[in-house]
Amino acid sequence: MAYEMVIGLEVHTELATKTKIFCSCPTQFGGEPNTHVCEVCSGMPGTLPVLNKKVVEYAIRTGLATHCNITRLNKFDRKNYFYPDLPKAYQISQLYLPICTEGYVELTGGKKIRIKEIHMEEDAGKLLHDATPDGTLADYNRCGVPLLEIVSEPDFRSAEEVVDYIEKLRAILQFTGVSDCKMQEGSLRADINLSVREKGSDTLGVRTEMKNMNSLRAIARAINSEFERQAEILEDGGKVIQETRRWDDAKGESSGMRSKEDAQDYKYFPEPDLPPIVITDEQIEAIRAQMPELPEDKKRRYMEELGLPEYDTGILTGSVALVELFETVSELCGDAKTTSNFIMGDVMRLLKDAGKQPEEMDFDPAALATLIKLLNGKKISRQTARKVFEKVFSDHIDPEQYIKENKLEIVTDTGAIKPVVEKVIAANEKSVNEYKGGKTQALQYLIGQCMRELRGQAPAQEVTKMLRELLDN
Ligand code: ADP
Ligand code: MG
Ligand code: ZN
Repeated sequence: MAYEMVIGLEVHTELATKTKIFCSCPTQFGGEPNTHVCEVCSGMPGTLPVLNKKVVEYAIRTGLATHCNITRLNKFDRKNYFYPDLPKAYQISQLYLPICTEGYVELTGGKKIRIKEIHMEEDAGKLLHDATPDGTLADYNRCGVPLLEIVSEPDFRSAEEVVDYIEKLRAILQFTGVSDCKMQEGSLRADINLSVREKGSDTLGVRTEMKNMNSLRAIARAINSEFERQAEILEDGGKVIQETRRWDDAKGESSGMRSKEDAQDYKYFPEPDLPPIVITDEQIEAIRAQMPELPEDKKRRYMEELGLPEYDTGILTGSVALVELFETVSELCGDAKTTSNFIMGDVMRLLKDAGKQPEEMDFDPAALATLIKLLNGKKISRQTARKVFEKVFSDHIDPEQYIKENKLEIVTDTGAIKPVVEKVIAANEKSVNEYKGGKTQALQYLIGQCMRELRGQAPAQEVTKMLRELLDN
């Protein structure tokens, strides 16, 4: 039997507002446990939430960037459950009237992943299981940090599509300034709902859910492993149980955690402490007018105006950090194409080798612009540019000074090349005689020797020409 995977994602993103969603505590990541809390976000009796308007604005920005309809009359609802990271024993969320509905995100190949809805809600605290051997500690700093939950339709058919979608969504959220999307800090995390069905079937199978995944690599591995597991169960004539599963990335396997709860289990009801929010057309248009250029528009512009290849523009517009680097460097050196090639080749390779994200780059873009100018001016070779850039990338050296100190400029002056060629001819009598006897490989050897003497910093054509001249006369 041939099976296919069907996946729907619920992505949670922490918003980059300065203060929390219903109080004025800071949203800043980290901090001494329980220092970013007040009576409101720690759920003291007699306190009332006050909505942070920025959250609504950020939700609208996200909705516009993902082609959603914006709901004009919004309400909040209470999702009731007890867990030690939730001091109020309920989460304020939106069940009945989410702020955005029916949008989509376009993947690299053009496939559209439909967005069912986006709603606003508050984050819970964090439990620290390993802080003390005596038990578990609770840190409520994260309680009340604003979240958007972005729910897709079950449109994914592979792990690659899921990873691509998260990358696209991350770029949208970063470009609109809605979230920093630091996955390692949990400000972007995904719940993976996955079911398996016979290829060609149009009914959905029973799904499982893996929650709070915050690494793209782990997400891809978890998806492929869960697909195998469910397909095997079906192949053996068994039934998949609807449940929440925990992915253990170190072991490379998931295990059942609890059977899946439904919406009615939470006894949702309208939030009585917050008035409905009315969003006007004027408000939406004002936000639309202030939207920055989105990755898909940038991509089109890079292709049409700068003539960059589609693949490269896709990578470049995949992160704010890469776009900033690209735009700064190409402005400084005046050569967008070489800048793009350098980023696609050298920058991406060094990031990969260092296990770093583009946001973690900390070298001076002006140093890269300088190298590109030197390269274009034929002052250094491509190879030198690459080597020196490695030093710029990791040790923040000054490229011009480094090139001078290490004598890496191309020797263009024939006066400097000639004595080297003469020296090589004098030292390699055997090869010289072979060449004169008609063995052309001998010339290659002599060129190699000259280039070595010149530490590769001379144009090979120039060396060859001079060598020929001296040998043939
Ligand atoms: P819940 O209320 O349990 O969170 P939803 O209906 O909101 O359930 O769906 C949550 C996510 O799961 C959505 O992204 C949806 O597309 C996805 N999903 C629902 N059913 C399936 C299924 N059978 N297989 C894969 N994904 C599914
Ligand atoms: Mg859900
Ligand atoms: Zn607070």
